[in-house]
Amino acid sequence: MAANKEHVLQFIQIFDKKIEENHQYLTDLDQAIGDGDHGINMDRGMKAVMEKLPAQQDKGIDAILKAVGMTLVSTVGGASGPLYGTAFMRAGMAVKGKDELSAEDISAMLQAAIDGIIARGKATVGEKTMLDAIIPAKEVYDAAIAEGKSIAEALAAAEDKAWERVEYTKTIIATKGRASYLGERSIGHQDPGATSMTYLIQSMKEVAQA
Ligand code: ADP
Ligand code: MG
Repeated sequence: MAANKEHVLQFIQIFDKKIEENHQYLTDLDQAIGDGDHGINMDRGMKAVMEKLPAQQDKGIDAILKAVGMTLVSTVGGASGPLYGTAFMRAGMAVKGKDELSAEDISAMLQAAIDGIIARGKATVGEKTMLDAIIPAKEVYDAAIAEGKSIAEALAAAEDKAWERVEYTKTIIATKGRASYLGERSIGHQDPGATSMTYLIQSMKEVAQA
């Protein structure tokens, strides 16, 4: 089954709820290795997105995602605003003019989001960032689709992988962002951005399973 605009709008709402419910947890994670604002940043950004969403409902998927991205860039002060913002904007550009999203379109959106985060933040896998969750998750998604799994099954596998990778971020040194100031002392702590990114993948899965 393909995804449509309703699914995209539902996804944004579910992601907002997860960020809201977990904002203290995300902030606590950031307290340990950063400046303790990741949950606050993401929640502020998603609240601004939710305020603007009603005016976007009649637009296409690409325009909606672009508006989400621009709102995140302009309302979130931390590094995560421009990074998530670019991810959403690029994901929108990847499906320009489309009303229906196939399994391949969803893969293209994830890849565009990854490319945007890399272009903006110059990080790669293994640097204890949100990329440690989304890159392996996207690979698992692609592999599942190639095996003939449904979008919902592929996203479920991607989410499992993302949680596994969140655990992995505890074992590595941060070399990008604020957490890199801690060097070796960042070991043992879970990356907040990888955690919020896993909520994003979980939100996609929940829409696909509904
Ligand atoms: P700030 O670090 O400015 O306080 P946040 O606390 O909102 O911003 O976000 C921190 C998260 O951003 C980190 O946990 C990490 O996952 C992610 N991050 C930081 N720098 C980069 C980067 N260069 N590339 C990708 N992700 C990054
Ligand atoms: Mg922070």
